[in-house]
Amino acid sequence: MAEVGLLPFARIALQVSRAVLPRYRSRFSKRQFTQPQLLAILCLMRYEDWTFREAEVRLSEHRELRQVLGLVSVPDFTTLYRFLQRLDDQTIDRAVGETVRRLRGSLRQKRKRARVAVDATGLAQGAVSTFFMRRMHHHGQKPLPWRHWLKWVVAVDLDQQFVLSQLARRGPWNDCANLPPVVEAASQQTRIGLVLADAEFDSERNHTYIRKRLGAQSVIPAKRGKKTWRVHGVRAEMRRAFPQRLYRRRSLIESLFSSVKRNLSARAPGRSLRAQMRQALLLGLSLNLYRLKHRRLSLRMSTEPNRVMQQLLTVQEAPDGWADAQVRVRRGFLWCRLLRAAVWRFGVALGYPSSVKEVKAPAELETDPGLCGSCRHCRRVESSRGSVFVFCELSLGDPDFAKYPRLPVLSCRGYEMKNASP
Ligand code: SF4
Repeated sequence: MAEVGLLPFARIALQVSRAVLPRYRSRFSKRQFTQPQLLAILCLMRYEDWTFREAEVRLSEHRELRQVLGLVSVPDFTTLYRFLQRLDDQTIDRAVGETVRRLRGSLRQKRKRARVAVDATGLAQGAVSTFFMRRMHHHGQKPLPWRHWLKWVVAVDLDQQFVLSQLARRGPWNDCANLPPVVEAASQQTRIGLVLADAEFDSERNHTYIRKRLGAQSVIPAKRGKKTWRVHGVRAEMRRAFPQRLYRRRSLIESLFSSVKRNLSARAPGRSLRAQMRQALLLGLSLNLYRLKHRRLSLRMSTEPNRVMQQLLTVQEAPDGWADAQVRVRRGFLWCRLLRAAVWRFGVALGYPSSVKEVKAPAELETDPGLCGSCRHCRRVESSRGSVFVFCELSLGDPDFAKYPRLPVLSCRGYEMKNASP
Protein backbone atom coordinates (compact mmCIF):
# COMPACT_ATOMS: atom_id res chain seq x y z
CA MET A 1 0.00 0.00 0.00
CA ALA A 2 1.08 3.56 -0.54
CA GLU A 3 3.15 4.92 2.34
CA VAL A 4 1.21 8.20 2.14
CA GLY A 5 -1.82 6.49 3.65
CA LEU A 6 -0.01 5.08 6.67
CA LEU A 7 -0.54 7.96 9.09
CA PRO A 8 -4.29 8.50 8.43
CA PHE A 9 -4.75 4.74 8.65
CA ALA A 10 -2.91 4.58 12.00
CA ARG A 11 -4.99 7.50 13.29
CA ILE A 12 -8.29 5.82 12.43
CA ALA A 13 -7.11 2.44 13.71
CA LEU A 14 -6.26 4.03 17.05
CA GLN A 15 -9.62 5.85 17.26
CA VAL A 16 -11.56 2.64 16.59
CA SER A 17 -9.40 0.63 19.00
CA ARG A 18 -9.97 3.20 21.75
CA ALA A 19 -13.72 2.88 21.25
CA VAL A 20 -13.70 -0.89 21.84
CA LEU A 21 -10.84 -1.59 24.26
CA PRO A 22 -10.00 -0.22 27.72
CA ARG A 23 -6.56 1.37 28.10
CA TYR A 24 -5.15 -1.44 30.22
CA ARG A 25 -6.19 -5.04 30.77
CA SER A 26 -5.83 -4.91 34.55
CA ARG A 27 -4.71 -2.50 37.22
CA PHE A 28 -1.49 -4.51 37.52
CA SER A 29 -0.46 -3.87 33.89
CA LYS A 30 3.01 -2.48 33.24
CA ARG A 31 1.41 0.55 31.55
CA GLN A 32 4.12 0.79 28.97
CA PHE A 33 1.72 0.47 26.02
CA THR A 34 -2.06 0.75 25.99
CA GLN A 35 -4.24 -2.00 24.50
CA PRO A 36 -5.65 0.33 21.77
CA GLN A 37 -2.09 1.18 20.71
CA LEU A 38 -1.20 -2.50 20.34
CA LEU A 39 -4.41 -3.29 18.44
CA ALA A 40 -3.76 -0.35 16.10
CA ILE A 41 -0.24 -1.71 15.44
CA LEU A 42 -1.67 -5.16 14.64
CA CYS A 43 -4.07 -3.52 12.16
CA LEU A 44 -1.14 -1.64 10.61
CA MET A 45 0.69 -4.95 10.27
CA ARG A 46 -2.19 -6.43 8.31
CA TYR A 47 -2.56 -3.25 6.27
CA GLU A 48 1.10 -3.28 5.22
CA ASP A 49 1.54 -7.08 5.39
CA TRP A 50 4.40 -6.74 7.88
CA THR A 51 5.71 -9.52 10.09
CA PHE A 52 6.09 -8.88 13.84
CA ARG A 53 9.79 -8.14 13.42
CA GLU A 54 9.18 -5.87 10.43
CA ALA A 55 6.61 -3.95 12.49
CA GLU A 56 9.18 -3.35 15.23
CA VAL A 57 11.78 -2.12 12.72
CA ARG A 58 9.34 0.10 10.83
CA LEU A 59 8.03 1.69 14.03
CA SER A 60 11.56 2.45 15.21
CA GLU A 61 12.32 4.10 11.83
CA HIS A 62 9.10 6.12 11.51
CA ARG A 63 8.95 8.93 14.07
CA GLU A 64 5.67 10.43 12.76
CA LEU A 65 4.01 7.04 12.99
CA ARG A 66 5.07 6.69 16.63
CA GLN A 67 3.72 10.20 17.31
CA VAL A 68 0.36 9.38 15.72
CA LEU A 69 0.09 6.23 17.82
CA GLY A 70 1.23 8.08 20.96
CA LEU A 71 4.13 5.67 21.50
CA VAL A 72 6.95 6.74 23.81
CA SER A 73 8.99 3.64 22.98
CA VAL A 74 8.80 0.90 20.36
CA PRO A 75 7.14 -2.35 21.47
CA ASP A 76 9.21 -5.49 21.09
CA PHE A 77 7.93 -7.99 18.53
CA THR A 78 7.21 -10.48 21.33
CA THR A 79 4.92 -7.90 22.98
CA LEU A 80 2.90 -7.72 19.77
CA TYR A 81 2.82 -11.49 19.43
CA ARG A 82 1.62 -11.97 23.01
CA PHE A 83 -1.05 -9.32 22.53
CA LEU A 84 -2.28 -11.15 19.41
CA GLN A 85 -2.52 -14.36 21.44
CA ARG A 86 -4.53 -12.59 24.16
CA LEU A 87 -6.87 -10.87 21.71
CA ASP A 88 -10.29 -12.53 21.53
CA ASP A 89 -12.73 -12.79 18.63
CA GLN A 90 -15.35 -10.68 20.43
CA THR A 91 -12.99 -7.69 20.58
CA ILE A 92 -12.31 -7.90 16.86
CA ASP A 93 -16.06 -8.26 16.20
CA ARG A 94 -16.74 -5.17 18.32
CA ALA A 95 -14.08 -3.25 16.37
CA VAL A 96 -15.63 -4.36 13.07
CA GLY A 97 -19.04 -3.26 14.44
CA GLU A 98 -17.59 0.15 15.33
CA THR A 99 -16.21 0.60 11.79
CA VAL A 100 -19.58 -0.42 10.32
CA ARG A 101 -21.33 2.10 12.58
CA ARG A 102 -19.01 4.83 11.31
CA LEU A 103 -19.28 3.77 7.66
CA ARG A 104 -23.07 3.68 7.74
CA GLY A 105 -23.08 6.81 9.82
CA SER A 106 -25.48 9.10 7.98
CA LEU A 107 -29.22 8.82 8.68
CA ARG A 108 -30.10 8.25 5.03
CA GLN A 109 -27.75 5.25 4.75
CA LYS A 110 -28.99 3.86 8.04
CA ARG A 111 -32.56 3.78 6.79
CA LYS A 112 -31.62 1.94 3.59
CA ARG A 113 -31.61 -1.84 3.89
CA ALA A 114 -28.25 -3.33 3.00
CA ARG A 115 -27.60 -5.64 0.08
CA VAL A 116 -25.30 -8.33 1.42
CA ALA A 117 -23.23 -11.06 -0.22
CA VAL A 118 -21.77 -14.03 1.63
CA ASP A 119 -18.77 -15.93 0.33
CA ALA A 120 -15.56 -17.60 1.45
CA THR A 121 -11.99 -17.40 0.25
CA GLY A 122 -8.77 -19.17 1.12
CA LEU A 123 -5.79 -17.47 2.75
CA ALA A 124 -2.28 -18.89 2.63
CA GLN A 125 -0.76 -19.94 5.94
CA GLY A 126 2.82 -19.16 5.02
CA ALA A 127 4.72 -16.40 3.29
CA VAL A 128 5.26 -18.31 0.02
CA SER A 129 3.55 -16.57 -2.86
CA THR A 130 0.44 -18.36 -4.17
CA PHE A 131 1.51 -17.44 -7.70
CA PHE A 132 4.79 -19.33 -7.16
CA MET A 133 2.90 -22.35 -5.80
CA ARG A 134 0.60 -22.40 -8.83
CA ARG A 135 3.55 -22.16 -11.21
CA MET A 136 5.20 -25.07 -9.39
CA HIS A 137 2.02 -27.09 -9.72
CA HIS A 138 1.53 -26.35 -13.42
CA HIS A 139 5.12 -26.87 -14.46
CA GLY A 140 5.98 -29.84 -12.29
CA GLN A 141 2.55 -31.56 -12.46
CA LYS A 142 3.06 -32.44 -8.77
CA PRO A 143 0.46 -32.10 -6.02
CA LEU A 144 0.68 -28.97 -3.90
CA PRO A 145 2.85 -29.46 -0.81
CA TRP A 146 0.06 -28.45 1.62
CA ARG A 147 -3.51 -29.68 1.82
CA HIS A 148 -4.93 -27.24 4.35
CA TRP A 149 -5.38 -23.52 4.27
CA LEU A 150 -7.38 -20.97 6.15
CA LYS A 151 -10.92 -20.28 5.04
CA TRP A 152 -12.23 -16.78 5.59
CA VAL A 153 -16.04 -16.44 5.40
CA VAL A 154 -17.42 -12.92 5.16
CA ALA A 155 -20.70 -11.08 4.78
CA VAL A 156 -20.08 -7.93 2.78
CA ASP A 157 -22.14 -4.78 2.20
CA LEU A 158 -22.19 -4.68 -1.61
CA ASP A 159 -22.98 -1.00 -1.97
CA GLN A 160 -20.21 0.31 0.22
CA GLN A 161 -17.83 -2.66 -0.10
CA PHE A 162 -16.93 -3.36 3.49
CA VAL A 163 -17.14 -6.33 5.85
CA LEU A 164 -20.23 -6.61 8.05
CA SER A 165 -19.32 -9.86 9.78
CA GLN A 166 -16.75 -12.59 9.36
CA LEU A 167 -15.44 -15.89 10.65
CA ALA A 168 -12.37 -17.98 9.97
CA ARG A 169 -11.78 -21.71 10.11
CA ARG A 170 -9.52 -24.35 8.67
CA GLY A 171 -10.22 -25.33 5.03
CA PRO A 172 -11.16 -27.20 2.96
CA TRP A 173 -14.66 -27.21 4.40
CA ASN A 174 -18.18 -26.75 3.13
CA ASP A 175 -19.55 -23.56 4.64
CA CYS A 176 -23.23 -24.08 3.89
CA ALA A 177 -24.08 -24.37 7.60
CA ASN A 178 -22.08 -21.20 8.41
CA LEU A 179 -24.37 -18.88 6.48
CA PRO A 180 -26.96 -18.33 9.27
CA PRO A 181 -24.42 -17.29 11.98
CA VAL A 182 -22.57 -14.96 9.57
CA VAL A 183 -25.79 -13.33 8.33
CA GLU A 184 -27.14 -13.13 11.88
CA ALA A 185 -24.00 -11.25 13.00
CA ALA A 186 -24.31 -8.94 9.97
CA SER A 187 -27.98 -8.24 10.75
CA GLN A 188 -26.94 -7.01 14.20
CA GLN A 189 -24.84 -4.31 12.48
CA THR A 190 -27.42 -3.16 9.95
CA ARG A 191 -30.84 -4.03 8.52
CA ILE A 192 -30.54 -6.47 5.62
CA GLY A 193 -32.78 -6.38 2.55
CA LEU A 194 -31.10 -8.89 0.22
CA VAL A 195 -28.69 -11.77 0.70
CA LEU A 196 -26.73 -13.17 -2.25
CA ALA A 197 -24.60 -16.30 -2.04
CA ASP A 198 -23.17 -18.84 -4.46
CA ALA A 199 -24.14 -22.50 -4.84
CA GLU A 200 -21.94 -23.56 -1.91
CA PHE A 201 -24.59 -22.11 0.41
CA ASP A 202 -27.53 -23.67 -1.42
CA SER A 203 -29.95 -25.19 1.09
CA GLU A 204 -33.63 -24.79 1.88
CA ARG A 205 -32.72 -24.16 5.52
CA ASN A 206 -30.61 -21.11 4.56
CA HIS A 207 -33.43 -19.68 2.41
CA THR A 208 -35.94 -20.22 5.21
CA TYR A 209 -33.67 -18.60 7.76
CA ILE A 210 -33.08 -15.47 5.63
CA ARG A 211 -36.71 -15.07 4.54
CA LYS A 212 -38.55 -15.95 7.75
CA ARG A 213 -36.12 -14.80 10.42
CA LEU A 214 -34.66 -11.68 8.80
CA GLY A 215 -37.51 -10.79 6.45
CA ALA A 216 -34.99 -10.36 3.63
CA GLN A 217 -34.86 -11.69 0.09
CA SER A 218 -32.45 -14.55 -0.61
CA VAL A 219 -30.89 -15.39 -3.96
CA ILE A 220 -28.83 -18.59 -4.05
CA PRO A 221 -28.62 -20.74 -7.20
CA ALA A 222 -30.16 -24.20 -6.59
CA LYS A 223 -27.39 -26.29 -8.08
CA ARG A 224 -27.07 -28.97 -5.43
CA GLY A 225 -28.07 -32.46 -6.55
CA LYS A 226 -28.88 -33.73 -10.02
CA LYS A 227 -31.15 -31.86 -12.38
CA THR A 228 -33.59 -34.75 -12.27
CA TRP A 229 -34.04 -34.49 -8.49
CA ARG A 230 -37.29 -33.00 -7.34
CA VAL A 231 -36.75 -29.97 -5.14
CA HIS A 232 -39.34 -28.05 -3.15
CA GLY A 233 -39.95 -24.64 -1.65
CA VAL A 234 -37.67 -21.70 -2.42
CA ARG A 235 -35.10 -23.92 -4.14
CA ALA A 236 -37.74 -25.01 -6.66
CA GLU A 237 -38.58 -21.34 -7.20
CA MET A 238 -34.88 -20.61 -7.78
CA ARG A 239 -34.76 -23.34 -10.45
CA ARG A 240 -37.96 -22.15 -12.10
CA ALA A 241 -37.27 -18.43 -12.32
CA PHE A 242 -33.82 -17.48 -11.10
CA PRO A 243 -33.47 -13.69 -10.53
CA GLN A 244 -30.35 -13.37 -12.67
CA ARG A 245 -30.35 -9.58 -12.57
CA LEU A 246 -30.21 -9.42 -8.77
CA TYR A 247 -27.64 -12.19 -8.61
CA ARG A 248 -25.23 -10.35 -10.92
CA ARG A 249 -24.16 -8.05 -8.08
CA ARG A 250 -22.71 -11.01 -6.18
CA SER A 251 -19.57 -10.75 -8.32
CA LEU A 252 -18.69 -7.58 -6.36
CA ILE A 253 -17.65 -9.77 -3.42
CA GLU A 254 -15.12 -11.51 -5.68
CA SER A 255 -13.76 -8.07 -6.64
CA LEU A 256 -13.47 -7.28 -2.94
CA PHE A 257 -11.50 -10.49 -2.29
CA SER A 258 -9.24 -9.68 -5.21
CA SER A 259 -8.73 -6.13 -3.94
CA VAL A 260 -7.92 -7.37 -0.41
CA LYS A 261 -5.43 -9.93 -1.68
CA ARG A 262 -3.72 -7.48 -4.02
CA ASN A 263 -3.70 -4.42 -1.79
CA LEU A 264 -3.58 -5.75 1.75
CA SER A 265 -2.55 -9.37 2.14
CA ALA A 266 -3.33 -12.84 0.78
CA ARG A 267 -2.14 -14.72 3.84
CA ALA A 268 -2.99 -15.40 7.43
CA PRO A 269 0.42 -16.15 8.96
CA GLY A 270 0.86 -17.97 12.23
CA ARG A 271 2.11 -21.25 13.65
CA SER A 272 -1.12 -22.19 15.40
CA LEU A 273 -4.57 -22.31 13.84
CA ARG A 274 -5.77 -19.86 16.49
CA ALA A 275 -3.17 -17.25 15.49
CA GLN A 276 -4.02 -17.72 11.80
CA MET A 277 -7.71 -17.20 12.52
CA ARG A 278 -6.97 -13.98 14.44
CA GLN A 279 -4.85 -12.74 11.52
CA ALA A 280 -7.70 -13.43 9.08
CA LEU A 281 -10.20 -11.55 11.26
CA LEU A 282 -7.75 -8.65 11.63
CA LEU A 283 -7.54 -8.55 7.84
CA GLY A 284 -11.29 -7.89 7.68
CA LEU A 285 -10.95 -5.18 10.31
CA SER A 286 -8.07 -3.58 8.36
CA LEU A 287 -10.20 -3.58 5.22
CA ASN A 288 -12.93 -1.64 7.02
CA LEU A 289 -10.39 0.81 8.42
CA TYR A 290 -9.01 1.23 4.90
CA ARG A 291 -12.52 2.01 3.64
CA LEU A 292 -13.00 4.51 6.45
CA LYS A 293 -9.72 6.18 5.57
CA HIS A 294 -10.51 6.39 1.89
CA ARG A 295 -13.99 7.72 2.52
CA ARG A 296 -12.46 10.59 4.46
CA LEU A 297 -9.73 11.29 1.93
CA SER A 298 -11.93 11.01 -1.14
CA LEU A 299 -12.25 14.79 -1.45
CA ARG A 300 -8.54 15.47 -1.09
CA MET A 301 -6.24 12.78 -2.50
CA SER A 302 -3.19 14.98 -2.96
CA THR A 303 -1.04 17.12 -0.67
CA GLU A 304 -0.78 19.80 -3.41
CA PRO A 305 -3.02 22.92 -3.03
CA ASN A 306 -6.47 22.19 -4.46
CA ARG A 307 -6.59 24.71 -7.34
CA VAL A 308 -10.17 24.01 -8.42
CA MET A 309 -11.50 24.41 -4.88
CA GLN A 310 -9.53 27.65 -4.44
CA GLN A 311 -10.95 29.09 -7.68
CA LEU A 312 -14.45 28.09 -6.60
CA LEU A 313 -14.02 29.89 -3.29
CA THR A 314 -12.61 32.97 -5.03
CA VAL A 315 -15.51 33.04 -7.47
CA GLN A 316 -18.00 33.04 -4.63
CA GLU A 317 -16.53 36.32 -3.42
CA ALA A 318 -16.92 38.09 -6.83
CA PRO A 319 -18.68 41.53 -7.10
CA ASP A 320 -22.34 42.15 -8.21
CA GLY A 321 -23.70 43.48 -11.57
CA TRP A 322 -22.31 42.39 -14.94
CA ALA A 323 -19.71 40.25 -13.20
CA ASP A 324 -22.54 38.08 -11.78
CA ALA A 325 -23.23 36.42 -15.15
CA GLN A 326 -19.54 35.67 -15.65
CA VAL A 327 -19.36 34.33 -12.13
CA ARG A 328 -22.27 31.95 -12.76
CA VAL A 329 -20.72 30.63 -15.98
CA ARG A 330 -17.32 30.15 -14.36
CA ARG A 331 -18.91 28.49 -11.38
CA GLY A 332 -20.79 26.11 -13.71
CA PHE A 333 -17.54 25.13 -15.45
CA LEU A 334 -15.79 24.57 -12.15
CA TRP A 335 -18.58 22.36 -10.82
CA CYS A 336 -18.39 20.32 -14.05
CA ARG A 337 -14.65 19.86 -13.53
CA LEU A 338 -15.22 18.79 -9.94
CA LEU A 339 -17.91 16.32 -11.02
CA ARG A 340 -15.68 14.89 -13.76
CA ALA A 341 -12.79 14.48 -11.28
CA ALA A 342 -15.12 12.76 -8.79
CA VAL A 343 -16.38 10.32 -11.45
CA TRP A 344 -12.81 9.58 -12.55
CA ARG A 345 -11.66 8.99 -8.97
CA PHE A 346 -14.64 6.73 -8.32
CA GLY A 347 -13.67 4.70 -11.39
CA VAL A 348 -10.02 4.47 -10.23
CA ALA A 349 -11.14 3.44 -6.73
CA LEU A 350 -13.12 0.57 -8.25
CA GLY A 351 -10.13 -0.40 -10.34
CA TYR A 352 -11.90 0.21 -13.67
CA PRO A 353 -10.32 3.24 -15.35
CA SER A 354 -13.08 3.54 -17.94
CA SER A 355 -11.35 6.24 -19.97
CA VAL A 356 -8.30 4.09 -20.68
CA LYS A 357 -8.72 1.56 -23.46
CA GLU A 358 -5.78 -0.51 -24.57
CA VAL A 359 -5.55 -1.57 -28.14
CA LYS A 360 -3.97 -5.01 -27.92
CA ALA A 361 -2.09 -6.85 -30.58
CA PRO A 362 -3.34 -10.41 -31.07
CA ALA A 363 -1.74 -12.62 -28.40
CA GLU A 364 0.67 -15.34 -29.37
CA LEU A 365 1.29 -18.83 -28.06
CA GLU A 366 4.22 -18.94 -25.66
CA THR A 367 4.97 -22.62 -26.33
CA ASP A 368 5.66 -24.34 -29.61
CA PRO A 369 2.39 -26.23 -30.38
CA GLY A 370 4.15 -28.96 -32.37
CA LEU A 371 1.79 -30.88 -34.68
CA CYS A 372 -1.25 -28.92 -33.47
CA GLY A 373 0.18 -25.80 -35.14
CA SER A 374 -0.51 -27.22 -38.58
CA CYS A 375 -3.45 -29.53 -37.77
CA ARG A 376 -6.91 -28.81 -39.21
CA HIS A 377 -8.59 -29.96 -35.96
CA CYS A 378 -6.78 -27.33 -33.91
CA ARG A 379 -8.70 -24.25 -32.80
CA ARG A 380 -6.92 -21.25 -31.24
CA VAL A 381 -8.78 -19.99 -28.13
CA GLU A 382 -7.95 -16.63 -26.58
CA SER A 383 -9.10 -15.75 -23.05
CA SER A 384 -10.22 -12.26 -22.01
CA ARG A 385 -6.87 -11.85 -20.20
CA GLY A 386 -4.89 -12.45 -23.38
CA SER A 387 -3.80 -16.06 -22.78
CA VAL A 388 -3.88 -18.31 -25.83
CA PHE A 389 -4.82 -22.00 -25.72
CA VAL A 390 -4.85 -24.79 -28.29
CA PHE A 391 -8.22 -26.53 -28.39
CA CYS A 392 -8.51 -29.91 -30.09
CA GLU A 393 -11.88 -30.20 -31.88
CA LEU A 394 -11.62 -34.00 -31.97
CA SER A 395 -12.04 -33.98 -28.17
CA LEU A 396 -15.71 -33.04 -28.69
CA GLY A 397 -16.50 -36.48 -30.13
CA ASP A 398 -13.67 -38.71 -28.91
CA PRO A 399 -12.72 -38.80 -25.20
CA ASP A 400 -9.25 -40.17 -26.12
CA PHE A 401 -8.27 -36.69 -27.28
CA ALA A 402 -7.49 -34.09 -24.62
CA LYS A 403 -9.49 -30.86 -24.87
CA TYR A 404 -6.33 -28.80 -24.37
CA PRO A 405 -3.44 -31.12 -25.35
CA ARG A 406 -0.12 -30.82 -23.59
CA LEU A 407 2.22 -28.91 -25.87
CA PRO A 408 4.25 -29.53 -27.92
CA VAL A 409 2.34 -32.45 -29.48
CA LEU A 410 4.97 -34.65 -31.17
CA SER A 411 2.81 -37.53 -32.35
CA CYS A 412 -0.94 -37.79 -32.72
CA ARG A 413 -3.14 -40.32 -34.48
CA GLY A 414 -5.77 -37.68 -35.31
CA TYR A 415 -3.37 -35.31 -37.00
CA GLU A 416 -4.49 -34.02 -40.41
CA MET A 417 -2.64 -31.25 -42.12
CA LYS A 418 -4.47 -27.99 -42.76
CA ASN A 419 -5.50 -27.32 -46.39
CA ALA A 420 -4.68 -30.94 -47.29
CA SER A 421 -7.25 -32.59 -49.56
CA PRO A 422 -9.42 -35.04 -47.59
S1 SF4 B 1 -5.85 -33.99 -33.56
FE1 SF4 B 1 -3.89 -34.09 -32.54
S2 SF4 B 1 -2.62 -32.66 -33.66
FE2 SF4 B 1 -4.72 -32.22 -34.24
S3 SF4 B 1 -5.35 -30.63 -32.82
FE3 SF4 B 1 -5.95 -32.55 -31.86
S4 SF4 B 1 -4.22 -33.06 -30.60
FE4 SF4 B 1 -3.48 -31.50 -31.98
